[in-house]
Amino acid sequence: MDSPILILGPMSSEIDALTAALTEPQETMLGGYRCTAGLLDGVPVVTVRSFIGMVHAAAATALAVTRFSPRCVIIQGTSGAHDPALHRGDLVIGSSMVELGSYYAPHRDAGTGSDWFAYTFPGVQMPVDQQTERVRALRSDPALVALAEALPYEHGVKKTGTIGSGDIWNRELDVIDRLHREHGTLCEEMEGFAVAQVCFMLHVPMLDVRVISNNEWYAEEEFDDSVGVWCQEFCRRLVAAIDRSFG
Ligand code: SAH
Repeated sequence: MDSPILILGPMSSEIDALTAALTEPQETMLGGYRCTAGLLDGVPVVTVRSFIGMVHAAAATALAVTRFSPRCVIIQGTSGAHDPALHRGDLVIGSSMVELGSYYAPHRDAGTGSDWFAYTFPGVQMPVDQQTERVRALRSDPALVALAEALPYEHGVKKTGTIGSGDIWNRELDVIDRLHREHGTLCEEMEGFAVAQVCFMLHVPMLDVRVISNNEWYAEEEFDDSVGVWCQEFCRRLVAAIDRSFG
């Protein structure tokens, strides 16, 4: 059997539709992470309910990659927009991911409060060409990005760019605006960079793809995880495209 495509979804609303679409499903529990191996339209896939946040994402990716030796990893689900031009239902193809929670806060005297705008983001320590370097952004696999870009999507616009990740839910518009302008983030979520970091270390191609579930710029666009099914629908199409392109 071909090596499978591994698909992670943090919340059940972000993975159950794909798991339900598998034929010949076979469940494996890796600790608390439910992995379901099966065929998605004839293509070997493993879905993983990975839970919310960076640590869960990293642990679930490391365990599942080690167990199933997938040909690639897709992390997908919902996301909050940073780009005011994006709206609920739009799709973001993450060509790169940056870590929002890894920052350096300069000294301030006691009693002077906090200034997020003075924080710097030196990046995460990674091995690059036999050196240890601080890496600010990690890339999705360019071939997977190109495949996703070529596919149709009916529920909104599709945009490619940077996704911010961290165990953070930002609702301060000045912070969101700075992240968007200075760090180039189209949206934020809580897993993508962690999955990219583990995939980098384990030499597995990966892609982060997200549907916008909320946009703080617009009061009427509060979090709605029901759009998670649209991202899964898109990933189903992506699985078929990966199989067609790479055999
Ligand atoms: N109802 C849930 C909401 C959690 S949403 C609860 O009670 O905890 C957090 C999940 O949605 C994460 O997996 C993250 O990847 C994604 N997400 C969607 N919008 C987000 C935003 N604006 N900021 C951070 N994560 C967001």
